Amino acid sequence: MTNQHGSRIVNVGVLALQGDFAEHAASLRRAGAQPLEVRTLEQLQHVDGLIIPGGESTTIARLLIAYDLREPLIELGRRGLPLWGTCAGAILLAEEIISLDRPALHLMPMTVERNAFGRQIDSFEAHLEPGPFGGGAIPAVFIRAPRIRSVGDGVDVLLRLGAEHDHEPVAVQHQSILATTFHPELTADTRIHRHFIEMCQQRADNPRPSEAHATLGRLG
Ligand code: GLN
Repeated sequence: MTNQHGSRIVNVGVLALQGDFAEHAASLRRAGAQPLEVRTLEQLQHVDGLIIPGGESTTIARLLIAYDLREPLIELGRRGLPLWGTCAGAILLAEEIISLDRPALHLMPMTVERNAFGRQIDSFEAHLEPGPFGGGAIPAVFIRAPRIRSVGDGVDVLLRLGAEHDHEPVAVQHQSILATTFHPELTADTRIHRHFIEMCQQRADNPRPSEAHATLGRLG
């Protein structure tokens, strides 16, 4: 399917096993993309990128294995399928996770610590300098968020908290993988969703179908 400009409409998948996938789907629609809920390998084959929502990382990690999606997702992520994790999703994408006792996706060179803001401020809202996104401050809702403790080579820090949190990173990107420790899907601001849609658009414009199908065939 194409839009009025003749470019292909991207299918942005939202992993819909647990967590706030419905809010991500609504943000994607507002940002002009077509969301597709993903629960099966078959559905995963039809997306140009995938959002891993906020929720409970222990539960999503367990369900990824139960639904036979963990291995295919790791393979597709390694091959450049755009992935974006918010909060619990960001935890699942991190190579090193402090205090998660089960296998996750481990695709992004960074270390995160779960629930690391402490009880006093386990949920809060901040206004972030927009950095590469431009425009006014970006509203950011943190709910029992992880903290990014370190990032590896080649990871771009897109957004940071303010001086009161030592400017620690809260949005990072490594090639086709994006992670935010807050929840853009819980605000009306669609800048980060639009950024991810562009990443998916780029991928859709440069498809590698034989590679993807070979991979999925082998794993399926
Ligand atoms: N604390 C949750 C976890 O560790 C993440 C919370 C969220 O996604 N809002 O999985």
